[in-house]
Amino acid sequence: REQSLRKSEKLSVIGQMAAGVAHEIRNPLTALIGFNQLLREKFDGNQAYCAIMETELKRINYIVNEFMQLAKPVPSEYRRHRLETLFDALFPLVQSHAALNDVTLHLECDGDIPEIRCDDNQLKQVFLNVMKNAIEAMPNGGNLRVAAGKEAGHVTIRFADEGPGIDEEALGKLGDPFYTTKEHGTGLGLMICHKIVQEHGGEMKFESKVGNGTVVTIRLPR
Ligand code: ADP
Ligand code: MG
Repeated sequence: REQSLRKSEKLSVIGQMAAGVAHEIRNPLTALIGFNQLLREKFDGNQAYCAIMETELKRINYIVNEFMQLAKPVPSEYRRHRLETLFDALFPLVQSHAALNDVTLHLECDGDIPEIRCDDNQLKQVFLNVMKNAIEAMPNGGNLRVAAGKEAGHVTIRFADEGPGIDEEALGKLGDPFYTTKEHGTGLGLMICHKIVQEHGGEMKFESKVGNGTVVTIRLPR
């Protein structure tokens, strides 16, 4: 079973609006976080209440930052990059998250992968989100295999996990704003991934069978 994420209509309207709102929320939020800290440190505010406020403000901050990525606050910078270089920079970031879940990362690069024209920071964000999802799908450990290869005119990156898989109904919801099955999830990660991959002229595909793990394949033009 597979499901291509082609949901540009949802992205354009909801994404742009949400990102606009997020931008407006960011400044007052920064002030709230600062004053809460001041209250706690200098004015002897109730520590327990201040701690709750801090947790909740951080949560809002996290969601707002995810929304901001949908608005592309920084213009894209397309340059030629080697995939190996991107993964070299990325793996240390993912490693600690993987270790916490007892997940082993494997990277397999097929010989000479051609360079791709991309915004490296944006692509790293995509790979990071996809790898985080895979790791979170294996809370009791497992293997996450990342394989990069080439096809005619394209470069493919395949992420295969050993998690519970995704049923057919849920496959159709991937990338919908706020669709999450996690207690602390935002359901925005895949929406961001889809948007970035699409802007790179590529596509993202999910293949999964319940009980057999999930394979996410990203194809990007050379
Ligand atoms: P979040 O991670 O915040 O929940 P995402 O947009 O990244 O939001 O993912 C949405 C949902 O897709 C997840 O909550 C999960 O149910 C499902 N999902 C994504 N990747 C995987 C995977 N590798 N294995 C199983 N489920 C997945
Ligand atoms: Mg996620």
